[in-house]
Amino acid sequence: MLVVKKFGGTSVANKERIFNVAHRIEAAYKNGDDVVVVLSAMGKMTDVLIDQAKDINPNPSKRELDMLLVTGEQTSVALMSMALSFLGIPAVSLNAFQVAMHTTSNYGNARLKRIDSERIRHELDQRKVVVITGFQGVNKYDDFTTLGRGGSDTTAVALAAALHADACEIYTDVDGVYTADPRFVQNARKMKEITYDEMLELASLGAGVLHNRSVEMAKKYNVQLVVRSSLNNEEGTVVKERVKVERMLVSGVAADKNVTRVSVIGLHNTPGVAFRLFDMLAKANINVDMILQSTGRDDKKDISFTITEDATADVMKLLEDNAGRLDYEKLDYNDHVSKVSVVGAGMRSNPGVAAKMFECMYNSNININMISTSEIRVTVLIDEKDTEKALNAAHDAFGLEE
Ligand code: ADP
Ligand code: ASP
Ligand code: MG
Repeated sequence: MLVVKKFGGTSVANKERIFNVAHRIEAAYKNGDDVVVVLSAMGKMTDVLIDQAKDINPNPSKRELDMLLVTGEQTSVALMSMALSFLGIPAVSLNAFQVAMHTTSNYGNARLKRIDSERIRHELDQRKVVVITGFQGVNKYDDFTTLGRGGSDTTAVALAAALHADACEIYTDVDGVYTADPRFVQNARKMKEITYDEMLELASLGAGVLHNRSVEMAKKYNVQLVVRSSLNNEEGTVVKERVKVERMLVSGVAADKNVTRVSVIGLHNTPGVAFRLFDMLAKANINVDMILQSTGRDDKKDISFTITEDATADVMKLLEDNAGRLDYEKLDYNDHVSKVSVVGAGMRSNPGVAAKMFECMYNSNININMISTSEIRVTVLIDEKDTEKALNAAHDAFGLEE
């Protein structure tokens, strides 16, 4: 069988961890499997490289930043291949260029378009373990690109789809997908299974255990995922289309602190105003999440919306530069806010989840600034300092504890 195994940064953080992973690969190889390994950069290497870049130039070009970041993954794959050889296992490391992983051209947040599998197949036919860099790709200018933070998961799923792998295993530093981030919610419970749809919502709402695009891609190509620990042999969590377990109302909670609320105050209350504002943001490639419009006095209205925190400076500049066109009275923003969400396919057929969420925020004396919902999710925007309190309160209120 052909298996894709992805190991995250903490799983390859040092020599001991690299050999721990190498031994796991050795076991699969000796079992007769064809093994494709995808690795992240060692430990916090990607953060270190970003800090280094910003120390040289606070505003580095995205192309050059990607050129730098891809070295992190390249280091891991070369060292892993050496570790495997040391154990007597034939291995070859490949970067995105050598594999030919084609992406869109946008640096820093590129999307995988196509992967050539020829070279990988050739190496597997020679009975080699193929160790591939996660997170990176190559665009039409023959430049390196990266897939966004946490993007190695997406590399692994894309490879599993391209190679029609029999299994795609995501090894990380937790035992699987929990009902909440176990770092912040002590009594979080590991889930045996979760649907693609629920996992996609959780991942998009801040549950960093999987890159959201990896889940999107797994659903599209029907790649069943297993999320498990690289440090023990616990079973992990299966991510798939349908699950057997009885549906809970809510299956998990997630929080995202990388949020800024922007308010445009005193706009004219006439047709076309919202269009002009959001069209401008869309053309600047800004992702807007929650939106709230309220009418005030004197036939004026205010529009508030949320963006990712790293886009704050760009958005404020755009709005200031277009003050004349938009004709507002003033601007305001707050980056000390966070989103807390409850997710569950069970809420499709059960009214009252939103009310219960608001009640539980009220009982914890947490003020709600904005609200948004989908069929399987309720999200509230709150003060960032209340994040952990809100996560725990929602987790308890929906009975998710062990
Ligand atoms: P890797 O380097 O292996 O990709 P990440 O740090 O990207 O690891 O993802 C694993 C981390 O995700 C865990 O350490 C955990 O704190 C965090 N996490 C957030 N939400 C969840 C969740 N619902 N279940 C499990 N882990 C979660
Ligand atoms: N090394 C990259 C990051 O830290 C990609 C990944 O780990 O998935 O974001
Ligand atoms: Mg990750």
